[in-house]
Amino acid sequence: MRQTLVLNASYEPLSTVSLRRAVVLVIQHKADVEHEHPALRMRAAAVDLPVPQVIRLRRYVKVPFRQRAPWSRRGVLVRDRHRCAYCGRRATTIDHVLPRSQGGRDTWLNTVAACAEDNHRKAARTPAEAGMRLLSEPFEPSPADALLLAVGGQAEVTLPEWLALPRAA
Ligand SMILES: [Zn+2]
Repeated sequence: MRQTLVLNASYEPLSTVSLRRAVVLVIQHKADVEHEHPALRMRAAAVDLPVPQVIRLRRYVKVPFRQRAPWSRRGVLVRDRHRCAYCGRRATTIDHVLPRSQGGRDTWLNTVAACAEDNHRKAARTPAEAGMRLLSEPFEPSPADALLLAVGGQAEVTLPEWLALPRAA
């Protein structure tokens, strides 16, 4: 997959993201194209976009990309794409896998998105104690996820279907 370099508004290199994510940041007016591919372009009915090799954020973001993304409730929901870790339905709450009453902390590896119903059902118990199973293990967000969290809060971005990305040249 082709990678695009992301510069902060201050021109400091932050991270690389997939071309798809880079294009979405440009379409959403979160970033401008600094360097484009000399030959390739993306064309669709009413759109003609350069293939960005380097983009620069319009707004300066303060995120320690080379370290860990700071934990936040919103970040957990975004990381888990608003899907409940126990049933896969839409999640609006955060569950501590090891409950806070048992010493569980606010960390990426101890928190998951959960629907209100499952959160209520699990209560102050571990998944084992509650007889519930995690569909997937919590994880640290990647630097690219952290960047997108800081920029727009969308870890999962979708490109309009009509916009076809060129194959790597
Ligand atoms: Zn659920």
